[in-house]
Amino acid sequence: METRGFLLFFILSVILKLGLRAALTKDFFGVNRRGPIVEFEKLKMKNEKLANIKELLSEVEENISLAQFTTFRIGGNAKYFFSAKSKEDIVKAIKAVQRCDLPFFILANGSNVLFSDKGFDGLVIKLENTKHELNFNTIHADAGVKLHTMVDIATEDELSGMEWANGIPGTIGGAVRGNAGAFNSSMSKIVKTIEVLDVLTSKIKNYEAKDCGFGYRDSIFKKNRNLIILSIEIQLQKENKDKIKEQIKKYRDYRKEQHPLELPSAGSIFKNPLKFSAGELIEKCGLKGRKIGKAQISEKHCNFILNLGGATAKDVLSLIKLAKEKVKENFGVELEEEIVIPN
Ligand SMILES: Cc1cc2nc3c(=O)[nH]c(=O)nc-3n(C[C@H](O)[C@H](O)[C@H](O)COP(=O)(O)OP(=O)(O)OC[C@H]3O[C@@H](n4cnc5c(N)ncnc54)[C@H](O)[C@@H]3O)c2cc1C
Repeated sequence: METRGFLLFFILSVILKLGLRAALTKDFFGVNRRGPIVEFEKLKMKNEKLANIKELLSEVEENISLAQFTTFRIGGNAKYFFSAKSKEDIVKAIKAVQRCDLPFFILANGSNVLFSDKGFDGLVIKLENTKHELNFNTIHADAGVKLHTMVDIATEDELSGMEWANGIPGTIGGAVRGNAGAFNSSMSKIVKTIEVLDVLTSKIKNYEAKDCGFGYRDSIFKKNRNLIILSIEIQLQKENKDKIKEQIKKYRDYRKEQHPLELPSAGSIFKNPLKFSAGELIEKCGLKGRKIGKAQISEKHCNFILNLGGATAKDVLSLIKLAKEKVKENFGVELEEEIVIPN
C-alpha cells in the first residue's frame, strides 16, 4: 500500500514538473509561452540598430513629422531623418543605412510625394545640397538647388531655356529624376551631364543626357531608386533679359489662371495618358469637386487633389482610387500616378 502511494506521488510530481516547464517555455496547450521572450529579443535587436545609426550618423534626428516637408502637408513621422548638406553627407548617410540595414528615402522638396499617415519606417535623407556655379552658358548645380533659384540665376545672366520651370516648386534633382516639364519643354532638353551615386556599387559616375532614358515624366532614375542624383550640369542659350522675363510672366499668369495654387497639393496626381488630359477625363466622370474627408478633387483642375486642411493620406488615396476606377469604367483608360507614394 505504502509502495503504491509512493509510486503515485512520484508519477504526479514528474507530471507536475514537466507541465510547469512546458508552461514556462512553449506549446503548452498550443500557446507559445516564449512570446514575450522572443518579443524582447526583437526589441533588443531594434535598439542595437538604433544605436548603430546614431553612432554612424551623429546628426540623425528621430520621429520627425514629414508633413512639414511636403507641399501636400500630409504624412506621418520619419523614424530617422537626416539633412544632407553636401555630396559627402549623402554618401555618408547611404553608407550608414547599408550598415544598419535600414530602408531609406531620398526627399528633395517634397512637391511630388504623398507619404503615408504612418510615415516612413527608416531613414529619410533630405537633400539640402545647394551649391551652384555659372560658367558661360552652363550652370552646374547640386541636386538640392530649387528650380526657382535656377530660373533666377539664368534670368540674371541672360540665359534662356528654364523659363517653363518657373512656378514648379521642386529641386533640380527631383526635376531630372521625373523629367519634369511644362509648356512643351522639359529637363531632358537642357541637361548635359548628371553626377550620380549608385547605391549598389557605392560608385559615383557621370551620365550624359542621352544615357538617362528620358521620356514623358520618365528617366532611368525613376525606374532605379538606387541611383541618386548628386549634381547636374545644364546648358542654356544667350537671350535678351526682357524677352526671358516676358516669357516667364506669360507662363506664371497661365499657371495662376489654370491651377489651384491657393491650397496645398502635389501638383498633377496622374500622368496624362496618351492623347488625353487626365484632368479632363476625371472631370467628365463627374468627379469635379468630389470630397473624401478633408481632401478634394480641385474644381479648377481635376488632376489636382487639394488638402482642405487636415487631410490624411488615406483621404487622398481614396480619391485616387475613385478617379482611377471611374476613368477606367467610363473610358477604358488606366490612369498612372505621377506622384510618388513611398511605402
Ligand atoms: C503646384 C505644383 C505645380 C507643379 N507643376 C509641375 C509641372 O508643371 N511640371 C512637372 O513636371 N511637375 C510639376 N509639379 C510636380 C513637382 O514639383 C515636380 O515633379 C518636381 O520636379 C519634384 O521635385 P522635388 O524636388 O519636390 O522632388 P520630391 O517630391 O522631393 O521627390 C520626388 C521623387 O524624386 C526622388 N528624388 C528627388 N530628388 C532626387 C535625387 N536627387 N536623386 C534621386 N531621386 C530623387 C524622390 O525620392 C521621390 O521619389 C508641380 C507640383 C506642385 C505642387
